[in-house]
Amino acid sequence: MPIYEYDCPKCGRFDVIQKMSAAPLETHEACGSKVTKLLSAGSFAFKGSGFYQTDYKAAPSCERASAGSPACATCPSAHG
Ligand SMILES: [Zn+2]
Repeated sequence: MPIYEYDCPKCGRFDVIQKMSAAPLETHEACGSKVTKLLSAGSFAFKGSGFYQTDYKAAPSCERASAGSPACATCPSAHG
């Protein structure tokens, strides 16, 4: 099911999973404020595609690790 994004004047933006055929929300269930539906067709693409995975590739820096430290033991490059 697609995810729709709404803007609540009290709570800010929030996502709702709705059927394609479902009527858009008029009020935020949590607070009762009138909400605006945002056009965010790509919102689930953003959330699904691991933007932050690149951060995990950063291994402990070998240059800063001293010989014999765990970081150096797993480092593929030789340290002499
Ligand atoms: Zn709200």
